[in-house]
Amino acid sequence: MLPVLAGLAAVGAASAAGYQSMAPTGQWYGRTFVAGKRESGRIALTYDDGPNDPHTLRLLEVLEKYGVHATFFMIGKFVRQRPDIARAVAAAGHLIGNHTFTHPLLIFKSEAQTRAQLNDCRRALTDAIGEHSRLFRPPFGGRRPATLRIARELGLDTVMWNVTGYDWTAPPASVIEKKVARQLHTGGGDVVLLHDGGHRAMGADRAHTVIATDNLIRQYKEQGYEFVTVSEMMKAARDEPAAVGHQT
Ligand SMILES: [Zn+2]
Repeated sequence: MLPVLAGLAAVGAASAAGYQSMAPTGQWYGRTFVAGKRESGRIALTYDDGPNDPHTLRLLEVLEKYGVHATFFMIGKFVRQRPDIARAVAAAGHLIGNHTFTHPLLIFKSEAQTRAQLNDCRRALTDAIGEHSRLFRPPFGGRRPATLRIARELGLDTVMWNVTGYDWTAPPASVIEKKVARQLHTGGGDVVLLHDGGHRAMGADRAHTVIATDNLIRQYKEQGYEFVTVSEMMKAARDEPAAVGHQT
C-alpha cells in the first residue's frame, strides 16, 4: 500500500532524489527488476500485503479457475498469524516473496533494522512454507542504495512494478480494471501491482481486487496474453538474445 507516497511526493517535490527513492521504475539507487521483455505477450500479476483472511483464499480460487500463477509479496507478521494461508498459496504453485516483517518505509530505517526486517520475514516464510523465492519487494516501493545492497547481501532480488492497480483504497473493481488496462503495454512484459491484503491489519477488504483480477485475466487471456510469475518473467528477460548479439 502506498498512501505515504502522496505525502512524500509533496514534501520532496523539489527533490528528484527523493522521488527516485519511491518511484517504482527509478534506477538511480541501484538495479531492480521492474518489467519484462516488451514483446513477450506476458503479464505478471503481483499481490502485496497478505496473507489476508479471507481475500487471499478467494483470490486463489480465481487464479485456479484460469490456471494462472501469480507472485505474492507477504508481510512476515501476517505469515506468523496465518501460516495456513501462506501454505495454501504455496501449495497452489504461486511464487512467494519477502515484503519485510512489519512493512516499514525502509528509507527511514537503519541498516541493522533493514536487515532484521528482511531476515524476520524470511524466517516467518521458511517456518510456514519452507523453501520460497528469493524475491523481495520494499514496502511502498521505498528504498535507498543501502536497502538494495542489504537485499543483495541476503541473496534477494528486488522487484518493483511498472503497472499500478491503485487498489489500496479499495475502489470499485471497474476502476481498478480501467487503471490497469490503461497502463498495460500491447506487447506485454508488464509487472502489475495489486493487493490481496492491507499492511495495517489482517482483514482488509480486497473483494474488489479479487473481482478485478477475475475480469482482467479473462479479458487478457482472450486477447492471447499469458500470465506468468515474476521469476518466469525475469528468467525470460535474462535469456534475451542481447548477449548473443554482442558475440556476433
Ligand atoms: Zn505493501
